[in-house]
Amino acid sequence: MRRPILAANWKMNLGRTDEALAFVRRIRYPLSEIEAADRVLCPPFTVLASVAEALAPTSITVGAQNMHFEEKGAHTGEVSAGMLAGLCRFVILGHSERRAAGGVHETDAAIHRKVQAALAKGLIPIVCVGENLAQMEAGETQAWVSGQVASAFEGLSAAHAAGCVIAYEPIWAIGTGRAATPADANRVIALAIRGPLAERFGEDVAQGVRVQYGGSVTVDNIAEFMAMPEIDGALVGGASLKPDYVDLVRRAAEAAGSR
Ligand code: PEP
Repeated sequence: MRRPILAANWKMNLGRTDEALAFVRRIRYPLSEIEAADRVLCPPFTVLASVAEALAPTSITVGAQNMHFEEKGAHTGEVSAGMLAGLCRFVILGHSERRAAGGVHETDAAIHRKVQAALAKGLIPIVCVGENLAQMEAGETQAWVSGQVASAFEGLSAAHAAGCVIAYEPIWAIGTGRAATPADANRVIALAIRGPLAERFGEDVAQGVRVQYGGSVTVDNIAEFMAMPEIDGALVGGASLKPDYVDLVRRAAEAAGSR
């Protein structure tokens, strides 16, 4: 049984201390009562420490949205795994908004190095993978996603691989209101994520890695995703900024518990 994991990607929102803390104080106690799932909030760097402190009395953990693969040096504006390690438990790596041309052109090679650097410092990477619309329409989803997984996990030990979380996020579903169908997401996860993991690390690792779905998840559709056997949780953007995110997480935990 894989433990469900719901991660809130705030992106570049709620980055002022006053607004972040007002939101966290509103949701933290009801959210902390949903103990059947891991709950991770990923705020901007500016409020990571204050959000972590506000959540310290609870069972909710914190994650960063990115990090550099180098430990220190001349990398203006960047943050390293070592800097994050005392602050948070998780780090989102390879989000499509960072891989994209409009982001910072993050490459598979860079993401691979980030995964290694995060693991070396005891952080849990949430590795994002997913195809764009043209790839989906051309039937290239499986080849593309399995390639991203192979690259990110290249050279990892089985123990390190098993400790990672993967977020399958079709790019065309992120922030668009057009979620994948739960059955399609389930199939991609089985064939393009667990399949290559099994080949490389064995069936135990492939069945142990937690895989989230991400892309226009809402309080209304989360239960259908969580009913799928391969989906262990969600990476949630827009819907994680609203107080009813607590209901979304509650529904996710209930749906996972009854499958
Ligand atoms: C995301 O940013 O990872 C995401 C899935 O966003 P949204 O839920 O808004 O589609």
